[in-house]
Amino acid sequence: MPVRERTLATLVALTFALPPPLLAAPPPATEPVAPTPSPAQLLPQLQQAARSSTLAWERLAYLTDRIGARLANTPAMAKAVQWAVATLTADGHDNVRTEPVMVPDWRRGRAGARLLAPVEREIPILALGGSVGTPGVEAPVVVVRSFAELGPQVAGTIVEFNVPMGEGVPTIQHYGAAAAYRTGGASAAARHGAVAVLVRSVTTRSLATLHTGLMVYADDAPRIPAAAITTEDADTLDRLARAGVSLRLRVEMDAADHGTVESHNVLAEIRGRQRPEEIVLVGAHLDSWDVGQGAHDDGVGVVHVLETMRLIRALPVPPRRTIRAILFTCEEQGVYGGRAYAATHGGERHVAALESDLGAFRPRAWGASGSREQPGWLVDAARPLGLPVFAGGGGADIAPLAAHGVLLVGLYPDDTHYFDVHHSPADTLDKVDPQELTEGLAAFAGLAWLLANTD
Ligand code: ZN
Ligand code: ZN
Repeated sequence: MPVRERTLATLVALTFALPPPLLAAPPPATEPVAPTPSPAQLLPQLQQAARSSTLAWERLAYLTDRIGARLANTPAMAKAVQWAVATLTADGHDNVRTEPVMVPDWRRGRAGARLLAPVEREIPILALGGSVGTPGVEAPVVVVRSFAELGPQVAGTIVEFNVPMGEGVPTIQHYGAAAAYRTGGASAAARHGAVAVLVRSVTTRSLATLHTGLMVYADDAPRIPAAAITTEDADTLDRLARAGVSLRLRVEMDAADHGTVESHNVLAEIRGRQRPEEIVLVGAHLDSWDVGQGAHDDGVGVVHVLETMRLIRALPVPPRRTIRAILFTCEEQGVYGGRAYAATHGGERHVAALESDLGAFRPRAWGASGSREQPGWLVDAARPLGLPVFAGGGGADIAPLAAHGVLLVGLYPDDTHYFDVHHSPADTLDKVDPQELTEGLAAFAGLAWLLANTD
């Protein structure tokens, strides 16, 4: 044994051989208390935890594979509400609860179309949400590329709206113009006597995918059936019509409105340690359309909210303000959950409302709406996250809070491919990149944390 080690061994042996002290040992000196880490110091820890979260993916997989599509009036949505309550409760949050919301009981049933001339073949269609059905309507087809082209020539016809969605990031900037035909096309055509409408799917890319979405009837027009067709079929019919070929089509749809039923918003809180009455709202919508799995829209947002809450709860210091999570019901059919929340809670002191409803892609920016000074406050608070803030935006569910002067903030990822699957049977878990899911989470959780702590 080398000398040095032997010496050490002897010392250890001697130490243990010492008799117990006769007098009580003096109380140990209190260890210096580590200073409480500041919110800014905890941000990297929170974001690292977000990036390495495996639960984000596991929870999204549960929601999409085991619960699936979640139209607000369906048993699947009720199951999603139960799952969200159980998850938030198991994560140890405060005031986990549901709040009832009456939602439309619209059911799609089956739908089909058959081209009868110039060739006979099936044309796949997907009813637009809220549409009436028809046992069968057969008529010539007129193709238009704008509302302005509607006129007396469409009386007694099936009108096809063929208006492509524009491309370019952010893609959402082109959504409204294209979706206007989906939302209002039926009534606009019905005013000129059309008997049904087919609307080009609102998407920038298609592999013969059908994209549904909300349509709304005006009070001053007959209610006629409205369905989406693929961009491929929309272009085919357009080419034939422009070549002077007569088109004839038959449409059958079971879609029908059955009144209203009760659904629920889900809420939970992390109580603020200094200003509990001030609320930072973090939200997403739990419902989805009834095709696909509602993975990007808005299962991803749901997971961003759940994981933001879990990861902030795990930090050594609670936030100064209360962080309130909300999973809205029935966004897709007209923002029923968002409007109900604003009606009940709009008067409470919300310092900001955040929403994630543009899928799991690399975070690109924040979009903010509010008073003149609110965005400036946000720009300062969000600086450590390194994402730009642009004026305008937020989210459909939090938009009703604008009437109460609340700062609205939306997470805007690179949405180049969001609309490829949006509202279609292709919005499934396999389209979600696990790493981009957690990158979005790191940004979303980071901003919630900063806003809940900033002066
Ligand atoms: Zn959505
Ligand atoms: Zn949607």
